[in-house]
Formats: sequence, C-alpha cells, structure tokens
Amino acid sequence: MNAYDAAAVPARCDVLVIGAGPAGSAAARVLASAGREVLLVDQQPLGRDKTCGDGLIPDAHQALRRLGLLDAVMARAQRVAHVGCVGPRGGRIDVPGSLAVLPRQQLDEMLNRHAQAAGARFVQARFERPLEDAQGRVCGAVLRAGDAEFEVRADWVVLATGAVPKALSAAGMCERHTPSGVALRGYVQAPSLVGRIRALEVVWSRAVRPGYGWIFPAPDGHFNIGVGVTDSHRAVGGKGAKKDINLRAIFDAFVKDYAPAAELMREGRLVGELKGAPLRCTLAGARWSRPGLLVAGEAAGSTYSFTGEGIGKAMETGMLAAEALLQPGDDAALRARYEAGLQALKPRFDLYERANRVNAAPWLADLLIWRARKSPRLLARMSGVLNETSNPGNLVSLKGLSRLFLE
Ligand SMILES: Cc1cc2nc3c(=O)[nH]c(=O)nc-3n(C[C@H](O)[C@H](O)[C@H](O)COP(=O)(O)OP(=O)(O)OC[C@H]3O[C@@H](n4cnc5c(N)ncnc54)[C@H](O)[C@@H]3O)c2cc1C
Repeated sequence: MNAYDAAAVPARCDVLVIGAGPAGSAAARVLASAGREVLLVDQQPLGRDKTCGDGLIPDAHQALRRLGLLDAVMARAQRVAHVGCVGPRGGRIDVPGSLAVLPRQQLDEMLNRHAQAAGARFVQARFERPLEDAQGRVCGAVLRAGDAEFEVRADWVVLATGAVPKALSAAGMCERHTPSGVALRGYVQAPSLVGRIRALEVVWSRAVRPGYGWIFPAPDGHFNIGVGVTDSHRAVGGKGAKKDINLRAIFDAFVKDYAPAAELMREGRLVGELKGAPLRCTLAGARWSRPGLLVAGEAAGSTYSFTGEGIGKAMETGMLAAEALLQPGDDAALRARYEAGLQALKPRFDLYERANRVNAAPWLADLLIWRARKSPRLLARMSGVLNETSNPGNLVSLKGLSRLFLE
C-alpha cells in the first residue's frame, strides 16, 4: 500500500520500522521472516529516489546475500571488478573486489518489496514523534499521512530515517544536528563510454580537495558522477556550521581537472539534475537506543567516513537491530545486545575516520598509489580493506606509512 488508507493500517504491531531505506527494509525483512508483525513506514512512496553514488561494495554484497537478495540485485546491477583509485598526479591503482552499481531507486524498491514478501506491511506516512508510556518508554509513534494524524502502538520502534536529523530530533535521539559530510551526484547517459570507464573510479586531486570525485558505471549506458566532502562542518559555539564548501564548484573543478569526467560530460547527456545530500558517519552524532526504540542505519551514523559508503553498513545495522529484537530478554537486555553489536563495528568506522586524512592531504593518495603499484602485498592489503578483511587505518597511520617504505 502506498497512500494512507486508515483501514489498512494496524493500530498496533510488534515492531514499527520508520524509514524504508536499506537499514529499515533490512530490519523489516529479518523481523517479518521470523514471524513478527512489522509495519514499515516511509514518508516517501515505494520507488522513491535517494541521492547516492549507488556503489555496492563488498559489505553490501554480503548483507544482500544474508538477506537472500544478492542474485536478484546482481541480475539488474552493473557488475564491476575494481575500484580505480586515482591520485592527484594521475597515478592509478585498480583494487579488485566484488562490486556493483544499481540506482537506489531500484535497489531500495527491491529491498522494500523483499520485506513485504516476508509479511511486512508498508505504508507511506511520516513519523512525527514517539508515543511514550507512563514510564517514558517508547510504545509506538504518531504518524502523519496528508492531513491525517494517527497513532500506531508497537512493542518496539526501529528508527532508520537516514542522514536528515529531523526524525532523530523528534525522537530525542539526536546528539549532533549537523552532518559529517555532504555529497553531490548526477546521472549521465553516455553509451559511447560504456566499456571505457569500467571501474568504480575514485579520484583525489587538488581540484576537489578537501573531498574526492567519483565516476561509477551504472546499468544501461548510464554513469553516476559526483563529488563528496567528508568533515564538511565544524563546531562553532556548540552548534555545527558548514565550512566554506561549494559542492557545485567542486563538481565543476572535478570535471575540468579529470579528463574522463570532462569526456563524460562532453559526450554524455545529463539526466535530471545534480542533487546533493548530507552524510552521517562514524557511528557518531546520535544515541543508539532508548527504552522501546533502536536507531539503525545512517540515522545512527552508519556511513563510512573517507569514502562515504554506507549502503552495506545500513543493512548490517538494520539486521543487527532485528536480530537483537528477536532474542529473549527484557528491554535493557535487548538494547544492550544491539549496542554491543554496533560497538563491535566501531573500530572499523574509527579506522575509516583516520583514513579520511587522505581527503585533506591528497599527496597521501599519491604515496599509497605509487607504493601499491610496486608492491603486490600492499595492493593485496588495499583489497583486504575493500573486502573488509584488513584495517583501512593501518594504511595511513604513522606505522602504516613507515611500512610503505619497507615492504
Ligand atoms: C551523494 C551521496 C553518494 C553516496 N554514495 C554512496 C555509494 O556509492 N555507496 C554507498 O554504499 N553509500 C553511498 N552513500 C551513502 C548512502 O546513501 C547511505 O549510507 C544510505 O542511504 C543509508 O541508508 P539508510 O537506510 O540508513 O537511510 P536512507 O537510505 O536515507 O533511508 C532513510 C529513509 O527514511 C525515510 N524517512 C526520513 N525521515 C522520515 C520520517 N520522519 N518519517 C518517515 N520516513 C522518513 C526517508 O524517506 C528514507 O526513505 C552516498 C550518500 C550520498 C549523499
């Protein structure tokens, strides 16, 4: 169901999942598969778009496999075999991995339908605020669809509302209003470049500093091109303020500076507009739970700093939330289980945060690329980072840098 139909909305359910992005749909799928009565709501209709690079890195493949959706996604996605890292001096290294690109409009609709196929009900409605019992425990939510406001009671609420902090604030979970980063992307149709841009190209250069640019080959002769800046805001008097960053100007500089981007924009046709969106990274900026409520996905900061990738970790945290709620135990025990799951992921997020220094000092990318071209072991380690079998931070820690010269 898309539009609000009072008769179709249950007055209560076991778990109310707010937000039908990768985190919310993954949580809904796991819970519904286990027989829980799940209501999945999103303020936008099924088939909505999401501003994203659409790149599926290995953690997303693993999450989709666990959800039983990988084959269906790969049947529609553009398969990619490498991340092409390009340094400011033009040096390039192709890091192998299981990669793909599928526009979020399609991916998110598949995930949502997958949750519905397991028994979750989907309703287009906006979360306004939580319902609380006499002890202050969340016991449902007030939702709005058009002019109608209605209440849904639930044993648990999973808040998976992404990087825009409005719902987080309304739920009393937001610790930092400003995002960790911002990014801008567009789709370009350029059949003549199919087969010529084959990797997920990630480009560091002085022109895009303090960010990075990308070109990702999407299905049907399309390319996703964009620029991102993590660490885009600074704390000013207790509140965050955007640094002097103009994403559109960085995008133009990327196109001017990186020859394949210039060729793409020259030979291709921009489909729709360039669109920007915020990022929330490093599992920071929000409380992870309160009695009766868990926060999952990018609302909990589940996007990686440095690369801005978050689809895989959004699904993973959604599944962690669902798995915690399927265990026996009281409110405190279930929340502790979920928070322990997130805590176990935290070191990896912290390492990506440290790796983020490459964006501020692109010469580090030059150094890494130069060394990786000479060292199969280093290339294997970079592939290990991508495939989540080794630590990213080691590559840019002091120890890691000194090892670059020894390997
Ligand atoms: C430009 C850009 C490029 C990116 N590129 C990549 C990439 O290539 N690969 C990658 O892995 N990641 C990328 N990311 C990050 C990725 O988009 C996020 O990590 C991911 O979408 C997080 O998933 P989520 O389910 O937590 O949130 P979302 O996908 O944002 O879903 C949240 C949902 O909640 C809904 N919602 C919000 N508020 C309410 C409310 N009050 N009531 C009801 N519903 C609500 C929204 O409508 C939305 O559907 C990129 C991000 C940006 C901005």
